[in-house]
This record gives sequence, structure tokens and C-alpha cells, in this order.
Amino acid sequence: MIEKIYSHFLESRKISTDTRKIEKDSIFFALKGPNFNANEFAEEALGKGASMVVIDEEKYKKDDRFILVENVLETLQNLARHHRDQLKIPIIGLTGSNGKTTTKELINAVLSKSYHVLATKGNLNNHIGVPLTILSITGQHEIAIIEMGANHVGEIQQLCSIAKPTHGLITNIGKAHLEGFGGYEGVIRAKSELYDHLIRTSGIVWINSKNEVLSNMAKRFPNPLFYPQKGDYYHCEFIDASPFVELKAENEEVIKTSIIGKYNFENIAVALCIGKFFNVTEKRANQAIADYVPQNNRSQIVKKGSNTIILDAYNANPSSMASALENLAQMNADHKVAILGDMKELGPESVAEHEKLGADLSGKHLTDVYLCGDLIQAAQKHIPQAKYFKTKADLVEALKGHHFDHHVILIKASRSLGLEDIVEYIH
Ligand code: ATP
Ligand code: MG
Repeated sequence: MIEKIYSHFLESRKISTDTRKIEKDSIFFALKGPNFNANEFAEEALGKGASMVVIDEEKYKKDDRFILVENVLETLQNLARHHRDQLKIPIIGLTGSNGKTTTKELINAVLSKSYHVLATKGNLNNHIGVPLTILSITGQHEIAIIEMGANHVGEIQQLCSIAKPTHGLITNIGKAHLEGFGGYEGVIRAKSELYDHLIRTSGIVWINSKNEVLSNMAKRFPNPLFYPQKGDYYHCEFIDASPFVELKAENEEVIKTSIIGKYNFENIAVALCIGKFFNVTEKRANQAIADYVPQNNRSQIVKKGSNTIILDAYNANPSSMASALENLAQMNADHKVAILGDMKELGPESVAEHEKLGADLSGKHLTDVYLCGDLIQAAQKHIPQAKYFKTKADLVEALKGHHFDHHVILIKASRSLGLEDIVEYIH
């Protein structure tokens, strides 16, 4: 059955999973979700231009354009596996708790200087996104970069069985999605599934030598390639991030970037390291980093009067909070303010992690701290002077009545709080 679908796929190379975005001559995969069953839309997909539909409920089959399979999702994944097996190019798999998308974009920028690269679009990093990304690799591509995300143990292993990366890296192992992983140990186990795959297949691995957990795990590899310290395979030096990262590359060239956040130094370092590995000249690689402009709205600088806002309201977890605060702390500014909201999905460790955040905040000598949400109230235990607001509306009222002058203001919270809405009230 896979061969039949695959030969059809090779004719148009188009796949659709959403009837609102059917591409002409595509194969429509009728996936199921908690609230939908796309088998019901298979006929509509054909009407909108799909040339084949893959379904897993017999009652929807009308003619031989309907391909009935056991399980549509597994068929999509198997199709991607089959496609992957025809490919002869290096495939870089990357995972980690934070910084995957940014790192993927940076590697893409560097490698694109010398190669025709296919990289995961946006954040399509799960059990559906990875197969779709693999299926978008054509004979034109010379290297692929595949972002792999996970919320549970076993998911990275599954994604590796589809993408079969020949090269890989873990950006870092931090405290994200603790709930699904059953704690920090679970996170380590889950992320190391990429290393397991690379060891088994004698793949190449790049390792951040500044990260103790990753360095320890690297002992299992015969020849890990380390970055970014002196003596490593590739080294570079952090200079500053006030707010844009500036660094000295291996060839001593100073690179001034448009990327904010000290934590991005290591994301840049691995991109340069990978560029070196694939023989992109240093001059071109450094230029790629200097020219890179973040597209994804993750961390943005917003100027409001004399104030500089670091808007990082896309997501938050204990490790990305810690790096954002460290970044704020080391910035060159007299007045620094943190406006923080809840970190979600932390399961039983939620209260303890919010308390720890409070302790971290109290050591950062900030002019002011605003806390917003239900969970983050726990942070006040260690920083009683912080201003606490249960709702965003209460926070907005307080901001309306306050005037900031030459302040650097960090805004960070889990996505569901939508804390970016408060920017317009900062003055
Ligand atoms: P997702 O799980 O949503 O796919 P991601 O791993 O792709 O996230 P990014 O979208 O690149 O991560 O970045 C999200 C946030 O993670 C950034 O805004 C920043 O706060 C934080 N971050 C990025 N890189 C690092 C890093 N190396 N160490 C710690 N935190 C980081
Ligand atoms: Mg991502």
C-alpha cells in the first residue's frame, strides 16, 4: 500500500491535511484529533482538488481515489520513512528544551551560504510535522535540518525512526514540559533518545561543552565534536548582549548580530560549529550570523519612549526564565524591570519552581518586579516586595498608572497568558 501511495506522491509531491488548505493534486491524509475526524472531510478534499485521499474508516470510501488503511497517521509516518530511505543527504536532527527553532534558523542561515538546505518550517516539530518536513525534501536539497519536539518520553525516539538523522545536537536540557515527562529525569531520558539513535547509527554529534549534563552524556560517543570553548572543535567568545549579542568568532572577527539574549550565544556557536564542519568558509558563516534577523516573534525588542522592552511572551519555563533573567541582569542599564507571568505545565513541581523563580528574582537587583497570574504568586515568598496581580486586567490598570523612564523591561510568561497585550499600556 505504501508503494502505491508513494508512487502517487512522487507525481505531485504535495500533501494536505487540512481541507481549508487543499493543494491541487495533493494527497489528503484524513487525520484524527481529539475534536475532529478528517475521514468526514475526505470527499470534500477531493472536491477541492486533492487527487487521492487516505482514510481509515471504510464507510467513507466511495471510489478508488479513496485509499483505505489501518491508521492514517501511521501511514503518513511510514510514507515519510519510505521517502527518507531514498535520500542520501546529511540530515541534522535537533532537539532540546529551549532554543530549537532559533538554532534551526541559525544553522539554516549558515549552511544556506553554501548549500541548498531544507529546514523545518516554523515549529512543525511533532509526530505530524516531522513526517511532513521529511516529505518536503526533494532531489534538489543537499542538507536537511529537522527540528524535533517532545512532551513525553519515547517521542524523540519515534521521530528519529522517521527522520533517521545522520547528524544531531541537543540545544540544552532544561525544565520544560515537566508534567508530560514526569520530572527532570524524564526530560533527560527523552532528549537522550536522539543520542541513542546517533550512537546506534554511528552518527555525528555536536555537543555544548559548557553544558554539564550534555557533556556527561557525550562520554558515550567515540568522537563528539565540542563547541564553543578554547580547545573544542570550534570555539568562539561571548562579548556582550546589551541587548544584541556580539561575539568573537574563531577567526577573531567580531560579529554584531540582531539577535537578543545572552542565551542565544550558544545557539549561534553551534550554527558556526556546524558551518565549519560542512566547510562553509568562516567569512560567509560569520556574515550569515551578522545578517540574520529573527522572524519568529520569540524575543523582540520594542522601543516605547525612552524605554526598551524585551518582549519574550511566546513561552516560559524554569530554564528559559532563568536565562532571560540572567540576560536582563547582565545588561548595561540603570533601571531594570521584570514583568513575569505563570509558567504552565510544570505538574507537581509547579509551586516549588515558582518559589525558586522568586529566589532567583530577589538576587537580580531589579528596580521593580511585577508578577501576574495564579501560579506565580508562589514566587512572592522570596521576593515580597514584588507587585502581584491575579489577572492581566489588574496588571494593566497598574501599568496605566505608572510612568517608566529609561527602563529596560523584560516581559515573559507562558503562551496562554498572552502577556504581549500589556505592551501598549507601558509608557
Ligand atoms: P518550542 O518548544 O516552542 O518549539 P524552541 O525550543 O523551538 O521552543 P525557541 O522558539 O527557539 O525554542 O525559543 C523559545 C525561547 O527559549 C526563547 O524566547 C528564549 O527565551 C529561550 N531560549 C532560546 N535559546 C535558549 C538557550 N540556549 N537556553 C535557554 N533558553 C533559551
Ligand atoms: Mg520550536
